[in-house]
Amino acid sequence: MKRALLYGPRDLRVAEGDIPTPKPNEVLIKVITSSICATDAHIYEGTFKFPYPSIQGHDFTGVIEAVGAEVRSLAVGDRVTMDPISFCLHCRYCRAGRYNICETSTYMGMEVEGCFQDYLTLPQHRVFRLPEQVDEEEAAVMEPLHVALNTMRKLGYKVGETVVVLGQGPMGLCQGQVAKMVGCRVIVVDVLPKRLKLAESYGVDFALNAAELEVNKEIATICGGDGPHCVIDTAGTEKTNRQTVRIAANGGKIAIIAGHFAVPVPFMIGKELQVFGIRGGGPENVELAIRLLQEKRIDLRSTITTHFDFKDIGEAFRQFYENKENVVKIMLRN
Ligand SMILES: [Zn+2]
Ligand SMILES: [Zn+2]
Repeated sequence: MKRALLYGPRDLRVAEGDIPTPKPNEVLIKVITSSICATDAHIYEGTFKFPYPSIQGHDFTGVIEAVGAEVRSLAVGDRVTMDPISFCLHCRYCRAGRYNICETSTYMGMEVEGCFQDYLTLPQHRVFRLPEQVDEEEAAVMEPLHVALNTMRKLGYKVGETVVVLGQGPMGLCQGQVAKMVGCRVIVVDVLPKRLKLAESYGVDFALNAAELEVNKEIATICGGDGPHCVIDTAGTEKTNRQTVRIAANGGKIAIIAGHFAVPVPFMIGKELQVFGIRGGGPENVELAIRLLQEKRIDLRSTITTHFDFKDIGEAFRQFYENKENVVKIMLRN
């Protein structure tokens, strides 16, 4: 089988490896298709560092090829996706249902090897069968949706409230769709016209181009001189991190998905803001994401812009950087 090993920044090599054997509680999955996330790009470039050689990738669809002796709920031939975060089921956080912050959790494709290979094994409690209505490509770009659903629960935004989403990559596009589904007024911000157009096609109320507008002023005007109830930063730049606390209404809530949280603290104190770090989704949000796709209540298909064979993963990463204007989600086909 083929595996994509990262030996250093931008040094990715496809090599042969052995197909792993599942443990008693594990399943062996043959990867059908996977997608490249902005986090993979950070690791590829060396801005996020993990021990080399590493295997990236944390969003995929596969088919079960073998099951361990203790596996009951899954069978050979099942089409599946997974929770990219490991959890132990036993620690105090798992017992409280907060699986995504399990004491021993790891994120696939980061601390442990990911899905940019032909086969991998996972414990059965992290693997979810896909209903036939769910398209295998949409299920392989679903991780941002797990995160958006987790963000919705953490922020607890409600019908009629205003939600601002900074950044309209796949993560930001999902956040906007989920907030719209709840019934919020949604303002999204990006600098790429194609992404703003895509956001508009999902029915967001305002799509602002930060390259052309004074965004903070514009948002204040939309909010009648005040600020939004919730701000979600999916861009994670120093500028957008700072922007979150500047534009939020007093008593507002902020979700940080990426970045270093370089914020002006006096605004946080003066406005009594609540800040949430968001880590993945956890199993309940993976299950909900699958159901929303099954019921066609969310559209991930239109974020898929580009396809490559898995063996051409190096070229796929080059496209990610060189064609930012047009590329949203890149699929790799095994
Ligand atoms: Zn990701
Ligand atoms: Zn645990």
